Amino acid sequence: MNANPISSLEMPDLRRTTMRRNIWCEGCGLGNMQQAISIALMRQLGRRFKVDFMQPAGLDTIKNNIAMVSGIGCTSRMAGHLDANTVHTTHGRSLAFASGLKMARPDLTVVLAAGDGDIFAIGGNHFIHAARRNLDMTLIVYDNRSYGMTGAQASPTSPMGEFGSSAPYGVFEAPFNLVDLAIGAGAGFVAQGAVTTLQEHQDQLEELIAAGLDHKGFSFINVVGTCHTGWGARNKRSEAFRYRQYLQHQVTPVERWRELPPEERAAWKPLGIIHSVDRPDLQSSPAYTDIVARGKKAAVALEEPLEDVQLAELDPMARPPRTCLRFAGSGGQGVITAGEIALSAAVLAGKNGVFTKNYGPEARGGEAYSDVTVSDGEIHFPQSDELDVLVALNQETFDKFRKDVGPSGRILVNSSAVRETYDDPRVVASPIGEILARDVRPPKRDLGINILALALVLDYLGLMSRKAIESAVMKSVGKKNPALNQKALAAGFAEAERLKAH
Ligand code: SF4
Repeated sequence: MNANPISSLEMPDLRRTTMRRNIWCEGCGLGNMQQAISIALMRQLGRRFKVDFMQPAGLDTIKNNIAMVSGIGCTSRMAGHLDANTVHTTHGRSLAFASGLKMARPDLTVVLAAGDGDIFAIGGNHFIHAARRNLDMTLIVYDNRSYGMTGAQASPTSPMGEFGSSAPYGVFEAPFNLVDLAIGAGAGFVAQGAVTTLQEHQDQLEELIAAGLDHKGFSFINVVGTCHTGWGARNKRSEAFRYRQYLQHQVTPVERWRELPPEERAAWKPLGIIHSVDRPDLQSSPAYTDIVARGKKAAVALEEPLEDVQLAELDPMARPPRTCLRFAGSGGQGVITAGEIALSAAVLAGKNGVFTKNYGPEARGGEAYSDVTVSDGEIHFPQSDELDVLVALNQETFDKFRKDVGPSGRILVNSSAVRETYDDPRVVASPIGEILARDVRPPKRDLGINILALALVLDYLGLMSRKAIESAVMKSVGKKNPALNQKALAAGFAEAERLKAH
């Protein structure tokens, strides 16, 4: 038990000492914030679990009961530094991950370390809803008013008139007032600390984080911090100590700030606990517990026999057989439409499919392609490591994408346009352009080439029935020009027969 007079300097290290210490620039305030979080966690959890953090067993108990979640950015590297349960997630989504984690493991102390860009730009919606929802977790934001890691771009808290790599002539949008935003969104605990040259501000930061951890519900601690190598370098504050001094002149204790006339308050950043109200956190609220109880009762009343769960079906890493096709050609050849129709045909054939498209800025010409993945099973991830089939309508896309096809894949090339195939054994050549001109006779060059190629490749590979392919085509482009598309389908199926016979 620590009724502790132990000084911060004597406290154990909560870092993963076996790993690289950190990636932060020398003098960055993130080190101060990490130290304050570590100390607050050890003190508060030591007290909560009645264990001594100076003893290995006590420290283990503390570490095992922390779940730190972070997103992307300099601050978010903290989850990698701390030796606890840590999750380094995606940009702006740490609050969403943390919410799920807290719902599943309400016993854990969930703490988030995030930057202002991460949480208030990309993650802005998650922030307001986390504050409203009031799960019991603590969000600590390092507010350096910029994106540090990616090179000093302006963030939602960048001061007007200052310069960043994305604001070479100065920021012209008003910054968020994070404190007001948090209170307005419903956060029950809002505090603000700062990284300056003063030890009293460091001590205060530890106290504020500790108070946030103690608060039952969503707590938000904003840390006014530095970024001397990024934002600072563009605003005459490239020296870490001077940046801290600069901040020091902008902060004032919240008690003094409250005494200021309202028109003067905006010029100062109040430090301390700014807002604290008690309201039941989500998982203890009567509304939530009542709903959960009613849901459980309803589930029991249904008395539906539970189906056996096949674990393999739930395994996101399990890969049912799937085929990934790419239709590629120049803009205007309809390769995106071919992919869309292939997806519809897959669905009509009772399969699962996903479709993605990609095209250049040109309306005509340039490169375009679409990918369709088809499977009889679930498709957990839309991309494939390699293509199984490439349909290349021109030389450029053949040259560009043939490396993406697996060793046992097939490449159907339009030999009317692809003259060089480099003796690639995976190539199946078909004079699609000439067949189109001869058998379909479109009024415009290449009109219907996508349908011909689609019918040809799907039928040749036996991926779907002709009925499903025809039905998907006629429901799509076939409505506009049924005769031409019927001819293109027939020509594609006939060419598939010819190729199969070889
Ligand atoms: S880029 Fe800025 S915020 Fe990131 S570590 Fe360096 S000084 Fe700190």
